[in-house]
Formats: sequence, structure tokens, C-alpha cells
Amino acid sequence: MSEETSCFSWTTLNKSTYRVVQDDSLKELPFIYVKVYPTLLILIDTGCGPNHCRDPTVSEKSIRSFIEKKLDAEGRLLTAEGEKKQWLIFITHTHYDHIGGMFEFPDADIFISGYSQDYVLNDLGCNSLCCVFGIPTPKFDVYHWLQQNEKLTYKGVDLKLESLLTPGHTPDEIALYDEEEQVFFAGDSLYEEIPVYIIDTSVMADFSKSLDFMIDYVQAKNKQLETTGKRVITCAGHITDKADTEKLALEIKECFYETLKGKSILTKQETMRGMNVLTYMNATRNVGFMCIDTKLKEGMKHFGYDWDVPAPLPADAPAKIY
Ligand SMILES: [Zn+2]
Repeated sequence: MSEETSCFSWTTLNKSTYRVVQDDSLKELPFIYVKVYPTLLILIDTGCGPNHCRDPTVSEKSIRSFIEKKLDAEGRLLTAEGEKKQWLIFITHTHYDHIGGMFEFPDADIFISGYSQDYVLNDLGCNSLCCVFGIPTPKFDVYHWLQQNEKLTYKGVDLKLESLLTPGHTPDEIALYDEEEQVFFAGDSLYEEIPVYIIDTSVMADFSKSLDFMIDYVQAKNKQLETTGKRVITCAGHITDKADTEKLALEIKECFYETLKGKSILTKQETMRGMNVLTYMNATRNVGFMCIDTKLKEGMKHFGYDWDVPAPLPADAPAKIY
């Protein structure tokens, strides 16, 4: 029998959590997390879906089947009574590369930010960018709309997770704090090396407030952990799965204001979907923002900064890398 090839990779992060990365055709390389409980399985985001594997000839394209085979091999798929564990899905925000695999879990209970139910319920096809990338928009019922600082339970089981509403990148962006493992699941709010995307549906003032909220939250957690020698670490929606959250969020906050002042380094300019998109990074180029010019100007106006944002390139011009 030929060896199975797969669109996914599997890494153990800690005693309860695994990281799955999809090697997708859209080059998002989404980080998807699986947290194991005695009777439940939590999936944080679902990737781009089975029709978007970079190599369409791989034999395993289903995220569900991939994860369930891995968990089965480790004896963690079934409850002690031999029953299949119940899937719960937490969506860090409803962008296409986070919801694309949802339809593989019709039996899962879905948890989504309750900050703006309108955003999720109306025009999800365009808000998710599924319509831009030709991805079928998943249809789902929300089991629970998450609230700010909610300590989460499910049918009497303490999930040891707290939901944090962190609008900015999108209105429905959340973070989750895992009390047991000191992990901060940051969705698309915090990254190292790649810029945070500020796009059509992002709100600059909300992003700034959420950054302050995340910094206060993580500083308080780190203070509680002081005697243990542990620190809160970030598991983001892409690229980052072990950064010190407090340090990273502070760097991003500094870069946010430097960018609004026109003092960050312009590293790339391109036209995407007719929009003038500018990428600014900090001096060490480890954090930054990729912003639509209108959103950059919205933030500058809100915080009282004024300078000449680069004019759009001609529509057919290639991206300029600086
Ligand atoms: Zn996103």
C-alpha cells in the first residue's frame, strides 16, 4: 500500500494541546489547535478546507479525519467508556482560513464572539472573504456567543478556558486563555515576523483598545505566575506558537503608534482588490502592520496624526518591495 500523504502537520505543544498546520493553496498556513479533555475535544479554528490543499494529489485532505486518526493513535479519541468524544469548535474570527473546514464537523457545537452578532449573521460570505477566494461559505448554527472574560464550561465540564473579546482585525476577533497551560490563543491579533492585517472590516480604534486590554490581562496573569517561573505564551492563527505574549503585545503596541505617526519602515506596497495596501514593520522587522491606506488614515485621524500616506501604485503595477 502506498504511504499516506497529507495536507497537514501535527505537533504536540503541551500535555493537552496539539498544533495542526494546513499546507494550503492560498499560502495562509493556518495554525489550528486541538485541546483534549476526557470527554470533549476542542478545535480552535478549522483551516481553509479540503479543497485548498497546496498539493491536490495528497491522499489526506480532511482535517477531521487527519486529527481523529492522530488522536486515535495516541488513545485520545474516545472517552474512558469507549464513546466518541464531543467536538466543540471555537472560531477566533470568521475569516475564510479559520472557518473553511467547519462543514466537516456538522455535529460540533460552535462558539463565536458575541461582540457583533450582526457581523457574523449578515453577509458572512463577504466578511469572511470566502467570496473573494471562491470558497463555499460554511453554514452553521452558533451554540454559544462568547462574552467578555467568560470562564467557559460545557454541560457541567470546566473547560479551564476564558474568552476575551478582542475586536480590531475583525469585529468578531477573540482570544482564549488556557488557564491550565498558560497559553494565550491570539487568533490574528498578535504575530511575530508577519504583519497584522488591517483590512476593510478592521477598526483601528478597536484594535488599539483590544491591545491595551490584552496587555493588561496578560500582565496580570504573568504576575500571578511570577513564583512559578512560567510566563503566558502566544499561540496565534499563523506563524507564532511560543512567543512571550506580554513582550509581543507591547512590541505590537509600540509599532502600532509608530506606524500611525509615519515612523515605521515601509517594507511593501501593493494594489490588492483595488486597494492601496501598505506594509509597515518596526526597526527590527519582527512585528508590523499590513494596512489598507483608508484604514491607516482612519487611525491617524482618530489618534490625531497627519502625514502624507503613499499614493496608490498604478492599478497593474507589481508590488514594490522596499
Ligand atoms: Zn484574519
